[in-house]
Amino acid sequence: MSWTASDAEALSSEAPRYLRLLASGALRERASLARERLAECRLCPRRCGVNRLDGQLGYCRAGAGARVASYNVHHWEEPPISGSGGSGTIFFTYCTGRCLFCQNYSISQLGVGNDMTTSELARTMLTLQRRGCHNINLVTPTHYVPQIIAAVAEAANQGLHIPIVYNTSGYERVETLRLLEGIVDIFLPDAKYADDGVARELSGFDGYVAHNRAALLEIKRQVGTELLVDPQGIAYRGMVVRHLVLPEGLSQTPEVLTWIAENLGRETYVSLMAQYFAAHRAVDHPKLGRRLYRREYRVALDALEELGLENGWTQELDRVY
Ligand code: SF4
Repeated sequence: MSWTASDAEALSSEAPRYLRLLASGALRERASLARERLAECRLCPRRCGVNRLDGQLGYCRAGAGARVASYNVHHWEEPPISGSGGSGTIFFTYCTGRCLFCQNYSISQLGVGNDMTTSELARTMLTLQRRGCHNINLVTPTHYVPQIIAAVAEAANQGLHIPIVYNTSGYERVETLRLLEGIVDIFLPDAKYADDGVARELSGFDGYVAHNRAALLEIKRQVGTELLVDPQGIAYRGMVVRHLVLPEGLSQTPEVLTWIAENLGRETYVSLMAQYFAAHRAVDHPKLGRRLYRREYRVALDALEELGLENGWTQELDRVY
C-alpha cells in the first residue's frame, strides 16, 4: 500500500495521525531515529545508558527486540476505549517499575513472554484490527518505544488504520514521549503517587512525581486533556488519567487529584479505580495486604467531586469491598 500527500489530505480529522506521517515519509524516519536510542538506552527515567542493540540489559531487562506476553480483544477498558468491538491489547513483557502489588508480575518482573520481530509485532496489530478492535492498546510499552514505532510504520504500510493507545505507568521521559508525537493518538497514563518516598518503596520508582507530572503536561501538549469520540462514541484522540486508589491512603489520592485539577485542568478525564487487591509481594504487607475499604474509596470520590473533576469514570460504591 503506497500513501501519497493527497491521500493524507483526504483523511478526516478523526483518522489516526500516524497515517499522515506515513504519507510524508516521517514515520520511517522516526522509526530509525528511535532505534538509535537503543544504542545507549535512556528511554525511561532510569537512564541506564546500556547498548541494547549489543545485548546489554538495563534495569528493565528488555533487549533489542520486543517481547510480548499476550495480545487479545479486551472489553474492560473505559467504555470509549473498549466500545462494542473491544480494545486490541498487546501486553509487553518487563517493566521499568517494580510494584510490590503488581498483578502481572510474572510478565513484568519474571520476563514471561515471546520475542517478536518488527514484522511479527506489525502482524499482531493487523490481526487485532481484523478482529474488529477499535484501537491498538499498548500495555506497559515504555521500554519498547523504538520497536513499537517500527512496527506501526510497517503495519500502517500494510493497512493499519485504527488509533494507537499508549497505556503507561506514567513513569516516562518527555524526550521519549516526543518520539511518539503524531503516532499515538490516545494516552492512558497513570498518576500513581504524590510522594516520591512512597513511589520508591511501593513501586521502585525514583523521582516518580516530577517525571510523572512532566509526562502528563507533555501528553496534554500533544493531544489535550479531553477524550474526543466519534459519532459512535469511540475514542479517537485524547487522554484519560488513571489513578488506582490504594489502601491506607498510600496513593495520596486528594493530592494527586488536586495537582491534576490545577495543572491539567478540571476538564481532564480521570478514571478513578477501586479494584486494588493484594498480589505478589503485597500479600504479606502490613498496609497493602487487603482490598480497598469502601470508606477509603469514598474519600477519593469526595476529593474528585470537591475539585470539580466531572469527566471520566468511577466505580459504584456498592461494588467496592
Ligand atoms: S528502558 Fe530499560 S534499559 Fe532503557 S533506561 Fe529504562 S530501564 Fe534502562
